[in-house]
Amino acid sequence: MAVRVAVNGYGTIGKRVADAVARQPDLKLVGVAKTRPSFEAATAVRKGYPLFIAGDAGTKAFEAAGIPTAGSLDDLLGQCDVVIDCAPEKVGKENAKLYDRRSSLKAIFQGGEKAEIAERSFSALANYGECRGLRRVRVVSCNTTGLARAAAILRSRWGVARWDATIIRRAADPAESQRGPINGILPSFHIPSHHGPDVRTIYPDLHLRTTAVVVPTTLMHVHVNQVELARAPRDVEELREAFRGTRRFRLFHAWEGVAGTPQVMEYARDLGIGPRPDMMENVLWDEGFHLDGREIAFFQAIHQESIVVPENIDAVRAMFDLAPDAERSMAITDRTLGLRP
Ligand code: NAD
Repeated sequence: MAVRVAVNGYGTIGKRVADAVARQPDLKLVGVAKTRPSFEAATAVRKGYPLFIAGDAGTKAFEAAGIPTAGSLDDLLGQCDVVIDCAPEKVGKENAKLYDRRSSLKAIFQGGEKAEIAERSFSALANYGECRGLRRVRVVSCNTTGLARAAAILRSRWGVARWDATIIRRAADPAESQRGPINGILPSFHIPSHHGPDVRTIYPDLHLRTTAVVVPTTLMHVHVNQVELARAPRDVEELREAFRGTRRFRLFHAWEGVAGTPQVMEYARDLGIGPRPDMMENVLWDEGFHLDGREIAFFQAIHQESIVVPENIDAVRAMFDLAPDAERSMAITDRTLGLRP
């Protein structure tokens, strides 16, 4: 029988996770919860997702907007096996109190919550097996997911002696008209940035130091990585092959003319990857690798709005033991989301 899933919080991440859940053969989307009527709430109903009311707004505002609802968040929680919390950062911590009242309910939180909210932080390539059967799991943030995926390859093939990463962060998501900057480059004076310690919630012994800069773009983040490996790759082609041959990575060839993030997202739109044109894989460039003995450098781009979506699906499979290992879970997720077969 399919695992019954609720999505609480239907914004940037929640609506994508809901669409992804609805495509899985072994999961059933019981409903989504939203605090207020909006075009997104109306769209959820148009897609056929039962809409439940989170918070204390009551039904009146939804009725006034002509948006039918199916009950309260509490009603929704009573009908599902797991809730995927996609509320704004730190709100998940409050929501956790509601989830804790139901002993059989499992919960997944997002990277905006502290690691302590869950038993384990999760990234499919890195630690699927450690999360099998757990009740509380946190899918790490977009940048942390991108770094953890790359770490899974580098650690298993050559070992990582030391890694410095500069995170060039997008200022806002495309729909966030209230955020900035619209002009300027803002260094984060918090060194290391929180990303390195966050990756260590998955790989505690990883020598990764991160710094971050915010730039006025909404498309993607870019990571500039300088890594000293424990063992030297044979040549740069061996490096490329390792990334090219691993799920959740997409490498562009020079002839494709993908100069940077605008072309990556144009490619995603042209191909229509996923329920909406998204880029759920780490994006790397063939010519973006440099090798000098044990030292390597590479760039990767991360689509912040969607990279964690497949990870949320794999997290459910791990928690309910629906697939025996990461590869078999990711194979289903990737096929249903239009990534590699
Ligand atoms: P968002 O603001 O786009 O969406 C959050 C939604 O939750 C909104 O629709 C909001 O109305 C709703 N909400 C507010 N209070 C709520 C409550 N009490 N209960 C239920 N829903 C409530 O936020 P987002 O960008 O989707 O982020 C969600 C989580 O995902 C955060 O932890 C964030 O850190 C993480 N995350 C975000 C990104 C990103 O780039 N946007 C990437 C990875 C992870």
